[in-house]
Amino acid sequence: MSTPGIAIAGGGAAGLALALALHKQGLQAEVFDAGAPDTALADKRILALSHGSMQTLDWLGVWPALERKSAPITTIHVSQQGGLGRTRISAAEQNVAALGYVCPAAALVAALAAAVNNAHIPVHHQRLVHDAMATEEGVHFRAGEEEYRAALLAYAEGAVDEGAHLRQRDYGQHAITCTATLALAHQGAAWERFTSHGPVALLPFAGGGSKEVALVYTCPAAEAEALQQLDDDTFITRLQAEFNGRIQIAAVTQRHRFPLGLRYRDTTVGQRQVWLGNAAQTLHPVAGQGYNLALRDIRDLARTLADAAQQGNDPGAAKTLQRYAARRRLDRHGTIGFTDGLVRLFSNDHPLLHHARGAGLLALDLLPPLRSFVANRMMFGARAFP
Ligand SMILES: Cc1cc2nc3c(=O)[nH]c(=O)nc-3n(C[C@H](O)[C@H](O)[C@H](O)COP(=O)(O)OP(=O)(O)OC[C@H]3O[C@@H](n4cnc5c(N)ncnc54)[C@H](O)[C@@H]3O)c2cc1C
Repeated sequence: MSTPGIAIAGGGAAGLALALALHKQGLQAEVFDAGAPDTALADKRILALSHGSMQTLDWLGVWPALERKSAPITTIHVSQQGGLGRTRISAAEQNVAALGYVCPAAALVAALAAAVNNAHIPVHHQRLVHDAMATEEGVHFRAGEEEYRAALLAYAEGAVDEGAHLRQRDYGQHAITCTATLALAHQGAAWERFTSHGPVALLPFAGGGSKEVALVYTCPAAEAEALQQLDDDTFITRLQAEFNGRIQIAAVTQRHRFPLGLRYRDTTVGQRQVWLGNAAQTLHPVAGQGYNLALRDIRDLARTLADAAQQGNDPGAAKTLQRYAARRRLDRHGTIGFTDGLVRLFSNDHPLLHHARGAGLLALDLLPPLRSFVANRMMFGARAFP
């Protein structure tokens, strides 16, 4: 029976970032992942990382490698189809170089894995973590065939456990993702368009050049399969119509489909256990908040555990975990509520809501402080609050 101090179940984007953050704070961890070494590199998601996430990845030493694979977002255009009200948030107005950065999830995991490897943090592949049992003294678990005991087990398994006390909402929507080549250079612009079938986002992307954008197209689950099967030209025509012909698309790549919903655990800490990333909460991608929230949680968890270690406390002690959960409560619930509210407000065809959305977008456009607040919320999470 081996005894790592802190064990991490899941070596995806959240688990690897946690391992690095702990290492940065002088704490040792071991990662156990169910998949083979290169599985995560097949991840087709394209992520928008906030300005705050870029700063955290820089602190972890990962940003220099990732920056080369990322495109900065310099403006965000927000509008709704068939209605009044639109707004434009710009990096220049917010006094930052970029509102965020877009990178492939696979590039992010590759950069994190390389940094974990350089730091000599042990990562065990093809070791599914199961049968965890926490006691006062430690948490016992199995990884593959082996038994382990740790002071703290951090779950970063990418999904909220069925057995957990959880809250969930099924939006009945799927996201279709692919990359598209525009007729003209994107110039760092992102577009968020709210339509009657759900939000459609185009994000500037560095993959194949300055004309590449990542598409996240949400629609009712019943329509998603048919949309995925459309030939490229018909799909492009449909996409262009969504933007009233303001965006011209030359080509699209193979489409992927993800079911969307909201699932989150009531609490992210338990006896000698903590849940992070999509294992703590799985959010709708409309506001691009899932991994950004995960990184803020990871940064604060690592700092809380380092403070505890300095005072000679055990990383799995109940008071340490409670302190962490209390520190994260406002940002966590704020981000879950913000994303859920946005999906429900903007995926509803009720005429009153349609006008309310138009009024909201108009207010955003007319009031620079409100625009700054929304931009800061996207860039920094709860740090946006005064
Ligand atoms: C279409 C789409 C677009 C998105 N866009 C954005 C965005 O723009 N910005 C943003 O911030 N977020 C976005 N997200 C959310 C983001 O992708 C996730 O928050 C993030 O990738 C979650 O990382 P994770 O490490 O928690 O999970 P995963 O990446 O799923 O990793 C989980 C890992 O755990 C391993 N595992 C599973 N079970 C076990 C086990 N029992 N034992 C050991 N290992 C196990 C798996 O092998 C895997 O390696 C988007 C999501 C979707 C679906």
